[in-house]
Amino acid sequence: MTRTSTPSVAVRTVPRRLRTEDESRPATSSTNVVLIGPPGAGKGTQATRLAAALGVPAISTGDMLRRAVQSGSTLGLAVKAVMDRGELIHDAMMTEIVAARLGEPDTRSGFVLDGFPRTVDQAVALDGLLERRGDLIAVELAVTENAIIRRLSQRRVCERCGCNADPGSSQAASSEVAGGRPAFATVCGCGGVLQQRSDDTEAVIRERLRTYERSTKPLVDFYRRRRALRAIDGTQAPDLVTAQISKVIDAVFDHAAS
Ligand code: ADP
Ligand code: ZN
Repeated sequence: MTRTSTPSVAVRTVPRRLRTEDESRPATSSTNVVLIGPPGAGKGTQATRLAAALGVPAISTGDMLRRAVQSGSTLGLAVKAVMDRGELIHDAMMTEIVAARLGEPDTRSGFVLDGFPRTVDQAVALDGLLERRGDLIAVELAVTENAIIRRLSQRRVCERCGCNADPGSSQAASSEVAGGRPAFATVCGCGGVLQQRSDDTEAVIRERLRTYERSTKPLVDFYRRRRALRAIDGTQAPDLVTAQISKVIDAVFDHAAS
């Protein structure tokens, strides 16, 4: 199995405005994308690829929280136990963290959010943060429970840069053993050690799935009602998923020069 690390989307100029049926709507200048999907849907991988192609930052709240845990900060101490139970951090705390991140200048032309919003309250808070910053599209990555369990139990994450290295990733593929069978890489391209996440055990995965169904799934309807939802089959090969999300984003945001 040979894979390249290049996503199958071309690097483009930043979209100028959202294409709507009502062309009199105010123009927006940012590409704001939210990825929704259960744990193991591939949000992290896709967020990184799309963000690179769109020239906007990928913002993963899970990564931000794991960095806080690693740093041993007060925030990290407070969230570690909650994460290891597969439960959610409080909406107010998450909103504060994301508000601070979206206040940074690199998000001005847009962002790909991975892991936020995770509740309807967070989605409402995000709407508030985005006032006058343009519209937002939510992309749902749909995957079956079997695929989730398989992916998460195999997943390895870089302790240094936080990237995912599952058997479908370039990092893992680069460590193919003789005979062509894929093997787990133990070291990331950045030099960091690849480890299993403490919440990727079967019991915690099941709790995260329950949490997803209960708290996050309602977001799908929330965005569907306002016609801001696009669903993609996340069980397909990662390159195909990237290409399909990219197409969806192209169809929604007008990439033509203003
Ligand atoms: P997953 O693979 O489950 O999508 P993430 O890396 O996105 O994992 O998140 C890991 C954990 O961090 C979650 O199970 C949750 O405890 C916490 N977390 C991340 N984002 C949020 C959020 N927006 N709201 C509440 N908790 C969050
Ligand atoms: Zn790394």
